[in-house]
Amino acid sequence: MTDLRSLAADYFTQQIELGSPAHIFADAATLAEISPVIKKNAFRGASPIAASSPNPRGAAALKKASALPLHASKLLTPASAVSAASAAMTGKRALLAELYYQVKNCQNCGLGKTRKNFVFGTGNPEARFMVIGEAPGEEEDLQGQPFVGAAGALLTKMLAAIDIDRKKHVFITNVLKSRPPQNRNPEPSEILACSPILSRQIDIIAPKVILLLGRIAAHAILQSSDSISKLRARVHEYRGISVFVTYHPAALLRNDEYRRPAWEDLQKLQMTLKEIGVYDAQA
Ligand code: URA
Repeated sequence: MTDLRSLAADYFTQQIELGSPAHIFADAATLAEISPVIKKNAFRGASPIAASSPNPRGAAALKKASALPLHASKLLTPASAVSAASAAMTGKRALLAELYYQVKNCQNCGLGKTRKNFVFGTGNPEARFMVIGEAPGEEEDLQGQPFVGAAGALLTKMLAAIDIDRKKHVFITNVLKSRPPQNRNPEPSEILACSPILSRQIDIIAPKVILLLGRIAAHAILQSSDSISKLRARVHEYRGISVFVTYHPAALLRNDEYRRPAWEDLQKLQMTLKEIGVYDAQA
């Protein structure tokens, strides 16, 4: 039965990765909604998660999900756990969840063996704006979330400077979903092996605008070998989507001289984001 328990935990992990609002983990009422089975039996009277703090953060939420009482996890057959999970989601969120389940144990390249966590992506699946970076680093590998280390903190600030809320207005992911050891550059074969996942994410989210961070992402998507300074000079088109390119936040941390051009890129991007109504999006 422990695998059933981990299925439920998986569901919550995935919700965290997909950037569900934290309150989704906060009460048994939400859990009750996800399955008539759970509603009728497991949570009658008992509300293990409702008893917790109203706004649990990712790791704490996962801990609580893993600590689902046995009487609850017994009621979850694998099929009901998965169908409960997808019944709780609609549209793009459900499609992304399905994709996540298909690929989270991917071993199509050697990084499957060395990663600690598969880093799928996070944010609002309904967003009209997507940000694509290179690959998870050490902190991302530990947390299973993109851009949560030093470069991530800078990315959050860059986005906030143009009024983009990471949870609400954007979906953030990487070209690679697994960390290359010692943060070495991704191998072309790894980019190729991972590309169907990114491609499907783009199909599902169908953003109107993509921002590519750094050389690896720009080269992978635009199939170009030009320098960032050349690529950032214009707006590209990819599958009908407007694509902006700028310096990777990790490069900005190393080189002050990139900061001004990156800021100019963000200002141009913001004009387009306004035009296409990115700021109207709801989480
Ligand atoms: N750098 C990236 O390209 N992606 C991350 O998620 C973190 C750092």
